[in-house]
Amino acid sequence: MKLQALHPGEWLGMLGGGQLGRMAVHAAQALGYRVAVIDPDKHSPAGAAADEHLQAGYDDAHALSQLASRCAAASTEFENVPASSLERLAQDIDVAPAGAAVAVCQDRAAEKAQFAKAGVPCAPHAVLRTAADCAAVDAALLPGILKTARMGYDGKGQRRVADAAELTSAFAELGNVPCVLEALLPLAAELSVIVARGRDGQIVSLPVQRNWHVGGILATTAVPASGIAPALQVQAQQQAQAIAAAFEYVGVLCIEFFVLQDGRLLANEMAPRPHNSGHYSIDACSHSQFELQVRAMAQLPLPQPRLHSPAFMLNLLGDLWFDAQGQRREPDWSAVLALPGAHLHLYGKTDPRPGRKMGHLTVTGASADEARAQALQAAQVLGLPQDGLV
Ligand code: ATP
Ligand code: MG
Repeated sequence: MKLQALHPGEWLGMLGGGQLGRMAVHAAQALGYRVAVIDPDKHSPAGAAADEHLQAGYDDAHALSQLASRCAAASTEFENVPASSLERLAQDIDVAPAGAAVAVCQDRAAEKAQFAKAGVPCAPHAVLRTAADCAAVDAALLPGILKTARMGYDGKGQRRVADAAELTSAFAELGNVPCVLEALLPLAAELSVIVARGRDGQIVSLPVQRNWHVGGILATTAVPASGIAPALQVQAQQQAQAIAAAFEYVGVLCIEFFVLQDGRLLANEMAPRPHNSGHYSIDACSHSQFELQVRAMAQLPLPQPRLHSPAFMLNLLGDLWFDAQGQRREPDWSAVLALPGAHLHLYGKTDPRPGRKMGHLTVTGASADEARAQALQAAQVLGLPQDGLV
């Protein structure tokens, strides 16, 4: 298939105005495109960077038709954007990923069915729609983690359950909505792989990332994925590409994996967009996940990104803006930026709150050890968790 590349100067549209949209706007503008963003928040991070911010809901018919008439192609940075909004845009312009693909990623049950279609194993699980389903659940899934099928992120919408009684009460606590119960697995490590697939089926991927979560939120990403056997990394990349190809996905897709203590690799979940665990690619790779997203939207060739520097990415949550007494403070950026490998990215959010993603710091080095040592220093200066660094 011959791609019809969009010319620089043309407009790209983005549904969602968070930090992922902001970094995509930066990448699009670097390639000469103009970007229009739809987001209801007047102070949205991507809206502030975009050439035009349409301040409206994601399902606002007027804003969607304005975007469709101005832009040649559109994408989303927000997983829970109504699939119907993407379908509306697709009536007039190219949309990548398609609404149907995003809909799969919005529902854990559909997502797991998609893994199965691609021949990729995932956690043993059951889909629970009613209290009666809870009562009938296979005891082999307990202890487990009950997750709402839709709208969960950063560990929200999840409850660990030890037995059938806890399962029943957790199901009610989560609002009697459709859920997936997964067996609680003995994890040895967590990985993710970001792939980009073009409309012509061309597919490339970033190197395998190793991730550490604290309190259900990503804290640290290391690339190369330290301590993970090369054969397992190849397997993760092949499985991620197989998943993207199996539903003819177009755009950037992130697949999260678990490595179990017995060495097995299981797919966890996927995101139909650039992912927090891929932010290091801005500073450590020849092409970032955001440039790949823009290229996929603009129907440009997709280069195979090359890691040029080992890197550790540390998330900067709103907690850093408060001292032990709960008083507001500004983190000591000068001390961090004195480290030669430090690359600071702040998202322009004015209202820090505990757990809110305010920015990230990528620390690169000539070797993984050098990057790790500097990342540890940065974590000590800022008071960040040291998971993955010691
Ligand atoms: P994200 O912010 O990545 O969207 P999420 O809230 O959608 O997260 P998951 O990725 O499903 O949730 O789970 C969050 C974390 O909880 C995982 O990264 C892992 O550390 C832990 N976890 C999830 N499922 C299991 C499981 N079945 N067994 C053991 N640990 C798990
Ligand atoms: Mg996750």
